[in-house]
Amino acid sequence: MGDTPAADNALTDRLLRSWLRCRRKAWLDRHGNPAERRWTAHRNLLLDDQQRCFVALLPRKPGHGIAACAAGAEAVVGLRLKGLGPSGEPLEAHPPLLRRVKGQSRWGDFAYQPVLARQGRRTTREHQLPLALMALLLEQHQQGDVPSMLVLGGGGRRLEQERLHLSSGLRRQLSEGLRKLRSDLERPVPPPLAADRRKCSLCSWRVACNAVAAEEGHLSEVSGIGAKRREMLLELGIRGLSDLAAADPLQLAEQLQRFGDQHAEVAASLVAQARAQRDGRVERLDASAALPELQDCPGVMLYDIESDPDARHDFLHGFLVLPRTKSGNWDLASLAYHPILALAEHGEARCWLRLQRLLNRYRGWPILHYGETESLALRRMAERQGAAEAEVLQLRQRLVDVHARVRHHWRLPLASYGLKAVAVWQGFQWSQAGVDGARALLWWRQWQGEGPDRRGTRHGLRWIFDYNRDDCLATWAVADWLLEQDQASGS
Ligand code: SF4
Repeated sequence: MGDTPAADNALTDRLLRSWLRCRRKAWLDRHGNPAERRWTAHRNLLLDDQQRCFVALLPRKPGHGIAACAAGAEAVVGLRLKGLGPSGEPLEAHPPLLRRVKGQSRWGDFAYQPVLARQGRRTTREHQLPLALMALLLEQHQQGDVPSMLVLGGGGRRLEQERLHLSSGLRRQLSEGLRKLRSDLERPVPPPLAADRRKCSLCSWRVACNAVAAEEGHLSEVSGIGAKRREMLLELGIRGLSDLAAADPLQLAEQLQRFGDQHAEVAASLVAQARAQRDGRVERLDASAALPELQDCPGVMLYDIESDPDARHDFLHGFLVLPRTKSGNWDLASLAYHPILALAEHGEARCWLRLQRLLNRYRGWPILHYGETESLALRRMAERQGAAEAEVLQLRQRLVDVHARVRHHWRLPLASYGLKAVAVWQGFQWSQAGVDGARALLWWRQWQGEGPDRRGTRHGLRWIFDYNRDDCLATWAVADWLLEQDQASGS
């Protein structure tokens, strides 16, 4: 026990968690080049959530280390457990918190249970198995049963508690998981890329893996192919982007028919997308103007929301107002940014009032946003706040989803039609390197601090506004490209 790093061959709770997320990640965590690792806000968000949960659970500060266990402290942190697994393999775990419960241990008439805070709404194997590993080692250390394990949820906003037991079923799953983890770690080369590559956006190895995917022409690199569709294509012998680009669309549609009409229907567009990416080709799909709403308007509002998905809270509604000059050009020198924060203590009614005032000041101007989040959030808020039907209808008519227009009018040589990918392809650069929604959320949580009287640094707020403003500018970069294409073709 102590704070020494894990033995070279020990299987740890963190490796197990990585493995449950993606087999390749566990391999890279152990054998990968650390210089290829990128910082991600995800882990800090997790630690922040965990801290809030622990503060909400515990009346007092926890004790530290083995001495606190021997003294029977109510809660203990900073313990590294070492021991042996079901097959005699060395194991290590670092439980974030131990809580005293009824039972028997070598320290007296009490025992400890490991406690874990989860992100998200459900407890999954990613929580259960690392927790079971902690419980297994804790049994050995306290020389007594671990009566139960505890999962906390709710990020400290509303504390949720779920008790689990180290059942024989869970022990079996743990033992099986450890066996497979060990065998994956012994491989000379990393396991394949994750089947569902959406999870890669949160992973510290994403840059290295994206490069491998691009080099291999991995099917997940083709826009429109997720884990399920990739499986189907693999079954049909289509192993990568170049196979798909070379496929006959009609024949592929027939082959995909057996998986359902919806898959057969997209065969032609999948092949066309793969060809566009292979050849770096931009293709117009609809000759009509992509943004007809912008032809005669006096200006536009660019709109982007920042959200805390776990709290289901849109904490920032950011607008960039872009007027036109008298001669009809876009007056970029007069761009004005209007951030509207939605603070819980002010209530939604106040936020809606401020939004209404801003939207009415530019009555009739189109509101451009990228993806459906913004239009759904704004319309739902209007409805909740009892806006008149005519007002909601007007709002609906003003909202223009630039992402939908790109998809409808253009086929681009890009693996993703997300804002980042399309705007960067247009040459747009975010002013703060490496920032994403997760980082903005972390800044938000840090600024929120302990509540209205104990806020964190205002710098965090400034950085969130800069990031949000850049997202609005990126939306404009894409819209501007659409307008230029319309002009060039006389649409
Ligand atoms: S980036 Fe994706 S494929 Fe690579 S290790 Fe992470 S989750 Fe796995």
